[in-house]
Amino acid sequence: MKEKEYRSLILKDLEKQVLDSSSISIHDLVVEIACTGFRCSGCGRCCTFSTGDNSVLLTYFDIGNLKKSGNIDTIEPTVAEENMFLADTEGNVHTFGWRLKRKTNGECVFLGDAGCTIYPFRPLLCRTYPFYIAEGKMEISECGGKGGFLPFYHARRLANEVLQRYIIELRDTLMTYRHFNEGLLFLVSRPAADYKMIVHDSRGKWKPDEI
Ligand code: SF4
Repeated sequence: MKEKEYRSLILKDLEKQVLDSSSISIHDLVVEIACTGFRCSGCGRCCTFSTGDNSVLLTYFDIGNLKKSGNIDTIEPTVAEENMFLADTEGNVHTFGWRLKRKTNGECVFLGDAGCTIYPFRPLLCRTYPFYIAEGKMEISECGGKGGFLPFYHARRLANEVLQRYIIELRDTLMTYRHFNEGLLFLVSRPAADYKMIVHDSRGKWKPDEI
C-alpha cells in the first residue's frame, strides 16, 4: 500500500473514532466504574517504575495545565530512552508527543515524600488511573486499589474524566497526523552524534526547547 493511501486510511479511522466517541454512554461508564470499584491506597506504585513502564504521556490539555502551574520544564519528548530512532535523510530524529520527566530512579519527577506534588494539576492519565478507554471500550490497568469502595458521585466524576481524556487523546492523535508531513523516515539504532530532534504533536512540529 502506498504511503499516501495508508495515511488517508489512518486519518479516516481516527476521524471515525472521534465521531464515535460522542455516542459513548456516560451512564454506562459510571455504572462500570462504580461496579468495578476503586479506592487509591496512596501506595504510589503507579508513579514509580515498579509496575513497568510508568511513562506519563501528556495531552495538550495537560501541557496547558503544566504551563499554568509553572512546571513546563518537567516535560520531555517521548523518545528519550528508546533504542530505535526515526531519522530523516538529513540526520534529524523525529518523535511524537511529550511525557513527564522521571528521576534517575525511575520515579515521576513530581513524586514527593507525601505523594504527588502537583495534585491539582496532575495529568489526565493520573486523574483517571487505572481506568481508560481504548477503541471505544473501557479498560482497567493493574492497580491494588481496584475493587475498593467508590461513592457513586466519585464514579460519576471519574467517568466524565475518563471520557474527556479519551476524546482529548483521540483529537491530539488526529491533529498530529494531520500536521505530520515529512518525507521518508528510517528506523536507526544510533542517530548521528550531532542530531537535532524534531517533536511532532497536535499543534505542529517543535524543537524540544520550543514548547
Ligand atoms: S504527576 Fe503525580 S500522580 Fe502523576 S505520576 Fe507523577 S506523582 Fe504520580
